[in-house]
Amino acid sequence: MRAIVLREDKQVAIEQCNVTDLPEGDVLVKVAYSTLNYKDALALTASAPIAKSYPMVPGIDFVGVVKESNASDFAVGDTVVLNGWGVGEKHWGGLAEYARVKSKWLIKLPTNMAPQDAMSIGTAGYTAMLCCNALRDAGVTPESGNILVSGATGGVGSVAVAILAKRGYSVTALSGKAEQAEYLTGLGASAIKDRKEYEGKARILGGQDWAGAVDVVGSHTLANIIANTQYGGVVTACGLAQGMDLPSSVAPFILRGVSLLGIDSVYCPQERRQRAWNDLAEELDPTVIQQITHEIGLDDCIEAAQNIMAGSVTGRYLVKL
Ligand code: NDP
Repeated sequence: MRAIVLREDKQVAIEQCNVTDLPEGDVLVKVAYSTLNYKDALALTASAPIAKSYPMVPGIDFVGVVKESNASDFAVGDTVVLNGWGVGEKHWGGLAEYARVKSKWLIKLPTNMAPQDAMSIGTAGYTAMLCCNALRDAGVTPESGNILVSGATGGVGSVAVAILAKRGYSVTALSGKAEQAEYLTGLGASAIKDRKEYEGKARILGGQDWAGAVDVVGSHTLANIIANTQYGGVVTACGLAQGMDLPSSVAPFILRGVSLLGIDSVYCPQERRQRAWNDLAEELDPTVIQQITHEIGLDDCIEAAQNIMAGSVTGRYLVKL
């Protein structure tokens, strides 16, 4: 099997491995598609210590077909999807032709979703749905007011814009790419805001512009979003594209009752995952998915990861195995 392999000396290369080299697990999956998430880009470019042991096959998600199973829940021939659980970090991941994993990490792909569509959106899309569901569960409705999505041309942001617009929300896309205005309005954004406005130090309280937000950027941007959220509004935080810090104050929380909800996709309980994938299959138009997808092969992954790190990518890389 061909696989991308990370070595301890930061070398990254495509190698020929044996299926018998795969780590332990009760299900063997022939990987059909994987994808490049921001975390994969960090791993492939050795920009952050994502791999916890070496050699490591990166790839935090994949979709594929079960080839061998010792688990009662999964039979040979089932199409399965995996996101997170430390795969691609502590356990060999999806940027390989085969993966052997624990059955408790897998969910069955909804039958009304094509495997390539699942990985076109990948962990980014599934995380976007976790954020959108969290906003709705917290009582944010289309009538509550406008929703802001940061990093809007990226993977999480693009899918979040599309889902929220489909659900009837009025969505403002916060983006650094003015040239992608048509792309963002095509996804359903009703307004676009230059991310420069939110990149600097936040005031303690700003205008009450947002009923809710999906933030993938963190740092000053998240602080500005919180400061500009309306009374009782809800902000979901899932990313750190600008930074991991949060230079904010308690003022929006104690004076405006703003809520900040953390979103984690990696160890998210299976029930919430299955709901998110079912919702994605029901609500996300495949033509929107195709619009955000660039299909590549294993050989293209390293260069694509560099593009992600440069912040120059619009949409998602789908990796065909
Ligand atoms: P992408 O690289 O696809 O998109 C990130 C976007 O953020 C870019 O397209 C850009 O959008 C914007 N951006 C990039 N750099 C900066 C910067 N310095 N300041 C402000 N904005 C910036 O990444 P993903 O969408 O896949 O992931 C986004 C974030 O979410 C990452 O930090 C990732 O680690 C995190 N994440 C977290 C998960 C979780 O479980 N919590 C799961 C998945 C992702 P634009 O040009 O439009 O402004």
